[in-house]
Amino acid sequence: MTDILVVLEVRDGALRKGAGELLAAARRITDGSVDALVCSAGAVNGLDALGAVGADRVLTALHPDFATYCPDGIAATAASIASSYRAVLVAATATGKDLGPRIAARMNAPCAMDVTSLDMNGNAIRVVRPVYAGKALQTLDVSSSGVIVVRPGAYPAGQHGRPGATAAVNVPSFTRRLEVAAVRKSDKGALDVAEARVVISGGRGLGDPKNFALLDELAAAFGGEAAVGASRAVVDAGWAEHGAQVGQTGKTVAPELYIAVGISGAIQHLAGMRTAKVIVAINRDKDAPIFKVADYGIVGDLFEVVPALTAAVKQARAH
Ligand SMILES: Cc1cc2nc3c(=O)[nH]c(=O)nc-3n(C[C@H](O)[C@H](O)[C@H](O)COP(=O)(O)OP(=O)(O)OC[C@H]3O[C@@H](n4cnc5c(N)ncnc54)[C@H](O)[C@@H]3O)c2cc1C
Repeated sequence: MTDILVVLEVRDGALRKGAGELLAAARRITDGSVDALVCSAGAVNGLDALGAVGADRVLTALHPDFATYCPDGIAATAASIASSYRAVLVAATATGKDLGPRIAARMNAPCAMDVTSLDMNGNAIRVVRPVYAGKALQTLDVSSSGVIVVRPGAYPAGQHGRPGATAAVNVPSFTRRLEVAAVRKSDKGALDVAEARVVISGGRGLGDPKNFALLDELAAAFGGEAAVGASRAVVDAGWAEHGAQVGQTGKTVAPELYIAVGISGAIQHLAGMRTAKVIVAINRDKDAPIFKVADYGIVGDLFEVVPALTAAVKQARAH
């Protein structure tokens, strides 16, 4: 059995970002079919585009309880069809990290969390995942059917140009033990750090919450592709929302570009961003640990460096 089931996230009647990336991850481990399961309370925008990025079939499961995230119902639905598949893939978002183990428990199958790469190794699926706050990489062979929770951004979305047929899936009866009362959007309505191609994070070096405006300007210069993140020190100080926190007790991000501004690079922060494709660090302390993981390090005062960088990005994008 080589087919893969990918469970996609829906919010407010639309697919969440990252569906194409998860389908690309699935394509790495199969020449067979990739089916995308979409659980919702009604119509979902974007399903017709899934074929182009790698879904052979889009399986829709409708239930009124799926109007908000319903872990019991979605896990029951995914597990009810999982025996037809070699593996079930879920994105390692805040929701996916909750959902993946629930599906695995119902399947009585293993669950590999926070995976950054996956390939076939003989008949097993070989996955790599950071452990000990990113200090080491663990390689696991998943030899039976199982759930693999893949870090967002691990693979870029590909083009497959398949038609992407649709089919309905029955929702089995389930007991709703957990109810999501509401999903509160960030006050800024800004891009999520876990989904953005560029993440610019600020730390205590900013000195004052109002100086996050410098990072907002730099993010704006990237034309809507950048999100502003934060270290835990500034989240704890109330300078930024918890949703923006990057690190062991915040979000894990793997953007194409991560810019750390006035962040020392504590191990707990690195745990959330060290798999970014390109890391740029701006810090006035040349011995700051962040420079050990940075591809480009700028030793200098952020209040001079960031405005200069913003101007350079604006100029580069204008051409
Ligand atoms: C269990 C646990 C979980 C944790 N989880 C997380 C987590 O998820 N995410 C996280 O981030 N942290 C986490 N932490 C906290 C972590 O250990 C650090 O305390 C925190 O990351 C430090 O934040 P910071 O880099 O902003 O501040 P600091 O360590 O104070 O660093 C500030 C940096 O700014 C530089 N700087 C100052 N002024 C300027 C300037 N004008 N120009 C340029 N540079 C300047 C300084 O040289 C310094 O390097 C956790 C800690 C524990 C114990």
